[in-house]
Amino acid sequence: MKICVVGTGYVGLVTGTCLAETGNDVTCVDCDRQKIDMLCRGAIPIYEPGLAELVRRNLAAGRLQFTSDLGSAAAASRLIFLAVGTPPADDGSVDLSAVWSVVDQLTPRLAPDAIVVLKSTVPVGTNRAVAARLAELTGRPCDVASNPEFLKEGTAVDDFMKPDRVVVGARREEVFEVLADLYQPYLRTDKPLLRMSPESAEMTKYAANALLSTKISFINEIANICQRTGADINEVRRGIGHDSRIGFAFLFPGVGYGGSCFPKDVRALAAVARQHGIQPRILDAVHEVNVRQKMILVEQMQEHFGGQLAGKTIAVWGLSFKPGTDDIREAPSLVLIDALLAAGAMVRVYDPEAMTNVRRIYGERLSYGQGRDDVLAGADALAIVTEWKQFVHPDFHRMRRLMRTPVIFDGRNLYSPARIKEAGFTYYSVGRQVVRPDG
Ligand code: NAD
Repeated sequence: MKICVVGTGYVGLVTGTCLAETGNDVTCVDCDRQKIDMLCRGAIPIYEPGLAELVRRNLAAGRLQFTSDLGSAAAASRLIFLAVGTPPADDGSVDLSAVWSVVDQLTPRLAPDAIVVLKSTVPVGTNRAVAARLAELTGRPCDVASNPEFLKEGTAVDDFMKPDRVVVGARREEVFEVLADLYQPYLRTDKPLLRMSPESAEMTKYAANALLSTKISFINEIANICQRTGADINEVRRGIGHDSRIGFAFLFPGVGYGGSCFPKDVRALAAVARQHGIQPRILDAVHEVNVRQKMILVEQMQEHFGGQLAGKTIAVWGLSFKPGTDDIREAPSLVLIDALLAAGAMVRVYDPEAMTNVRRIYGERLSYGQGRDDVLAGADALAIVTEWKQFVHPDFHRMRRLMRTPVIFDGRNLYSPARIKEAGFTYYSVGRQVVRPDG
């Protein structure tokens, strides 16, 4: 099938490439010409495990092309996926300007049987509004399907290739059939393609992200109560996780959720609720808890250093909002870095993939390490923000030798307090008691 995917970010590039992998003829479009030039050369503008090989293979096979000429790509395609960004506006609602810009550019050359597929996360009602706009501009009814994406950065290729489910919202049987046929190779292990109204499909995406965010804020709040009351969140987490009604997924305490989806989607759903006269109490609380949680390491540092962070050297391990990606959108690391710089601390950072993106924001205000241990020399403390695997088993004795004072603020609970105490560190983590070598 001839397919056009508009937007070659984390979602669009993975979608286009994975659709080409099953033999479709895919053209990926982006208004960012630099990105398109890179992609045409087989270079990948983002870090996503396994994606580069797939892009190059499908480029070489001639099934995948990149262009900034939206009109020609759309005119030749039966399916036109919109995977452009839908960032938050100042009031938390969704900025749909990229979606509308694409819709307006599409119409002059849209084929009569074309189906526009909304893969971007968009508020309920967008499908209907896009269909109305297309009908107005073309003078005929146009099919618009909603097909929200559930992939996770870091495992995006695998998630697309083997989804738990595919959600399709449409108003005509033929549209369901075309998309069911397209997705059939990805659903061979009997995972379902769920047919529903476009409104339900749009809402499903927000409900999923809101629930996952709620679990994170919930466990973070419980962790904070544990810390004050002498309970240990890890023991509590295991105590509740073994209950089959609860489970373990998304119940790891930490420094709050970030990324391009959870923070904006929780606020967007809250904005939709308010527009409809509903006070979104849970969603507001989830967001507020998360904003506060991103400050937890700073609060612990203030306490440890008696409010005197000025002149201290703080090493930071992990900058991306989670392991396996270079994405730093709404990352907890940025909140920490901003607070440390504002307090007059010197900040040395290291991340396996996200350094370029962080350097674009902070330039020479930070120092950048070549590796994990590089940032530790002379540090007054280490903060761990992202749980990359290479941070799980460091050489604690070497770390002690390198650091000026052996203090760790662990925002991901990577280490056993007993082991850390033995290694001679003062150790702050989330929802567990502070450990001191002499305590
Ligand atoms: P992104 O910012 O990485 O990529 C968006 C791309 O769209 C960019 O390359 C940008 O240049 C391009 N673009 C913007 N306006 C355009 C236009 N008018 N014409 C052509 N290209 C244009 O965004 P993303 O993370 O891939 O997210 C895309 C959508 O998917 C969002 O709605 C997001 O909420 C949703 N989503 C993201 C994830 C994720 O993990 N990143 C997961 C599921 C859903």
